[in-house]
Amino acid sequence: MSQLLLGAHMSVAGGFDKAVLAGASIGCSTIQIFTKSNRQWSAKKLSDSEIDIYKKTLNKTAINPIIAHTAYLINIGSPNKDIEKKSIASLAEEIERCNQLSIPYLVLHPGSYINGNKHDCLERIIENLNTVIQKKDTTLILLELMAGQGSTVCSTFEELEYIYKRIDNKKQVGICFDTCHAWAAGYDFSTTHTYESMWRHFDEIIGLKNLKVIHVNDSKNTRGSHLDRHETIGKGTIGLEAFKMIMNDMNLFDIPKILETPKNSLEDDIYNMNVLKNLLTATTLNILEQKK
Ligand code: FE
Ligand code: FE
Ligand code: ZN
Repeated sequence: MSQLLLGAHMSVAGGFDKAVLAGASIGCSTIQIFTKSNRQWSAKKLSDSEIDIYKKTLNKTAINPIIAHTAYLINIGSPNKDIEKKSIASLAEEIERCNQLSIPYLVLHPGSYINGNKHDCLERIIENLNTVIQKKDTTLILLELMAGQGSTVCSTFEELEYIYKRIDNKKQVGICFDTCHAWAAGYDFSTTHTYESMWRHFDEIIGLKNLKVIHVNDSKNTRGSHLDRHETIGKGTIGLEAFKMIMNDMNLFDIPKILETPKNSLEDDIYNMNVLKNLLTATTLNILEQKK
């Protein structure tokens, strides 16, 4: 890897190429997008020209990889049969869109059990992932570590592993670590000691090799609050020291880092990216320079 893999979630309003151009205009080396409306179950099929314009635009930039995030409506662990069915169909459709767009990663919120129970929810997620994931898929499903708000599952490494262990095609599944979610879930990584022990724990339970994307977000609420409220880097409760360790951690260096911080315009992404870049130490900057 020759560069820092840092970027933000970009709007696809006006086309996928617009998201790529917006990301490139502010110096992103990776971006995240929705491949369809975040609030709809289904979307009209991608046209060849739409795919073509996107790929040509992408090839002219230094952005790699593109990461997709599934619609928030999807809950493949839902106890409601109708929602579960729609979620399976919608997830399959999103995987297909990622295959068509050659997007390597599709981040998924594993699910929530609403008025059901957690165990059944986890079992449904496993069964449905095993149904939906096809060997021919070129995109990987990334299970996101969640804050544990309400009945949301997978706010622990153990729950993510519980699912991962039971996936038939393990090569087609990875993990997305969200700093806000981890913090809200109760994980501490704000001091050298807690940072190292948390990643050791992650490696033991899940395996660092399965970590494919990091969502870099500060948290509005305190550690252990289980509230999923993202905040601008440095303005939340996590503290810059934690972000400094992440940005300079050579074990995490080649993992794409995506901002999902509050945003009114691209200026906000520029601000957050600058805060993170300013945390890079002389040693890291040297390594970056040598890799060029
Ligand atoms: Fe997410
Ligand atoms: Fe996230
Ligand atoms: Zn979140």
